[in-house]
Amino acid sequence: MPNHLTLSGLAASLARRDVSAREATQACLDQIARVDGQIHAFIRHDGADALAQADAADLALAAGATHAQKPLLGIPIAIKDVLAVQGQPLQCGSKILGEFVSPYDATVIEKLKAAGAIVFGRLNMDEFAMGSSTENSAFGVTRNPWDLSRIPGGSSGGSAAAVAADECLASLGTDTGGSIRQPAALCGCVGLKPTYGRVSRYGLVAFASSLDQIGPFTKDVRDAATLLGVMSGVDPRDSTSVPQPVPDYTAGLTGDIRGLKLGLPKEYLIGGLDPEVKAAVDAAVKHYAQLGAEIVEISLPHTDYAIATYYIIATAEASANLARFDGIRYGLRMEGSDPTELYRRTRGAGFGAEVKRRIILGTYVLSSGYHDAYYLRAQKVRTLIRNDFLKAFETVDAILTPTTPTAAFKIGEKSDDPLQMYLSDIFTISCNLAGICGMSLPCGFTQSPRLPIGLQLLGKPFGEETLLKIAHAYEQSTGWHREKPRLSPG
Ligand code: GLN
Repeated sequence: MPNHLTLSGLAASLARRDVSAREATQACLDQIARVDGQIHAFIRHDGADALAQADAADLALAAGATHAQKPLLGIPIAIKDVLAVQGQPLQCGSKILGEFVSPYDATVIEKLKAAGAIVFGRLNMDEFAMGSSTENSAFGVTRNPWDLSRIPGGSSGGSAAAVAADECLASLGTDTGGSIRQPAALCGCVGLKPTYGRVSRYGLVAFASSLDQIGPFTKDVRDAATLLGVMSGVDPRDSTSVPQPVPDYTAGLTGDIRGLKLGLPKEYLIGGLDPEVKAAVDAAVKHYAQLGAEIVEISLPHTDYAIATYYIIATAEASANLARFDGIRYGLRMEGSDPTELYRRTRGAGFGAEVKRRIILGTYVLSSGYHDAYYLRAQKVRTLIRNDFLKAFETVDAILTPTTPTAAFKIGEKSDDPLQMYLSDIFTISCNLAGICGMSLPCGFTQSPRLPIGLQLLGKPFGEETLLKIAHAYEQSTGWHREKPRLSPG
C-alpha cells in the first residue's frame, strides 16, 4: 500500500509510474476511513480537495516534472491545526477561533506546495500547543496507534499518530518545549525540531514566540532531511528567521560517523527515568560506540532549572500572544453589555482550562512588582542554560539523551496533575530555551505493553546536517523505524 511507504519510497514509485499520486492519496484517505475513528489524529480533512491536488501532481508528473525539481511532488502531507493553510479552517485545537478560515498560507505551507506536496487535513493538538498528551484539545483526545488506551504525546499528538498509523506520508508539527520530539518518541516516528530561526514562523499561530519552531514528523531520517531542506530558509516576513544557507541535508547521510564525539549529560540520569527507557538508550549509546563514535560524559549544570524557566517564559509570552483572541477580531464572540464583558465572556467560554492556567500564570509573572523577580530572572537563567550547551558543543558534535522519561502513559493518568504533566518534558525543554536543534528517533520498545521508546539527539545551532547524519547512521544499522503498530479497522 503506497500510504505505508516513506516519502522517498513513494517518490521513487511515482517516478517509475508504479503508482499515481491519486492512488497514493486515496490510500491515505482509505486508511483514515479505516482507522481514524479509533485514533482521531485528524480534526477534519477534505478528501475531494486532496484528490484534486493529487490529480494536478499526476498531470505534472506526466508532463515530465521530476522529484529532483520538486522533491515532494505527489506526496500527501498532513498539517497540525496551528499552521495557516489558505482556505482551510484554522482552530489551534480551540473553540475560540470558531469557524475561522485562513486567508493565506504560512511560509512553510507555501514552500511545501511549491515543492509539489499534497497538503491536506487538520491534525489534532493540545489547545494552542499547550500540553504533552493531546488531551487538551477542544476536539477530543487523540489515541496512540500502538495502544489505544494511551496518549500519543503532545502537543502535536495528531501529527505523530497520523504518521505512525500511515494515514499520511509525513506531517508538520510545532515544538515549543518538546511538542515534536515527545510525540514522535511516544508514537515511534522521527521528529525534528530545527534550530530557532532555521524555519520561518510566518503563518504559525504563536504560543511562545521565542521558543516556537515548526518541524517535520516522518517515518525515517532521510525523509526528515528532505522535508527540512524544503522548509528551511530566511523569510522577510519573519524577522527571527536567519539568513543561513540551506545545505542539502540528504547529502550527508553516508552512514559514516567514525570519529564524531557524542556527549552524555550526567544530569539526565534522573530518578523518574523508566528502567526500560534507560536500557534502550544505554544500548543505543553502545551501538554508537560500535559505529565508531566517541562517547564523552558532559555536564549541563543548569538543567535543573529548565522546567521552571520554561514555565515562566512560555507562559509570559503566551499571555501576550493570546491577548488577540478577544471576541472582536476572530471567530467566537459572546454577547456583552460592554467590551470588557464581551472579552471576559468570550475568553471564558472559548479557552480551555490549561490555556486559562497559562494565561493567568503568564500575566502574573509579567505584572508590575513580579516582572523582575520572575520574568527577568528567568531570562538570565535561560542564558545560563544556553551557555551550558554552547560550552558542551566545544567538545562534542551532538548530545544523546532519552526523549522522554517513560513510554506513552494512559489517557487520563496525568490530566488532573499539571505538574506531573509538565515533568514529562524534562528532557526536551532545554533545547528550546537554548535555541538549538534536536530530534527524536525510535530506539526500541518496552516489553509489555509494546510501546515505542525515543532517543533524543541535540545538535549545535544550525547543526542539523550533522544531527541528521548521526541519526541516520543509527537508524540504518538498527531498523527500529521499520516496525509498525498493528491496527484493526474500526
Ligand atoms: N508540553 C509543553 C507545554 O505544555 C511543550 C508544548 C510545546 O512544545 N508546544 O508547554
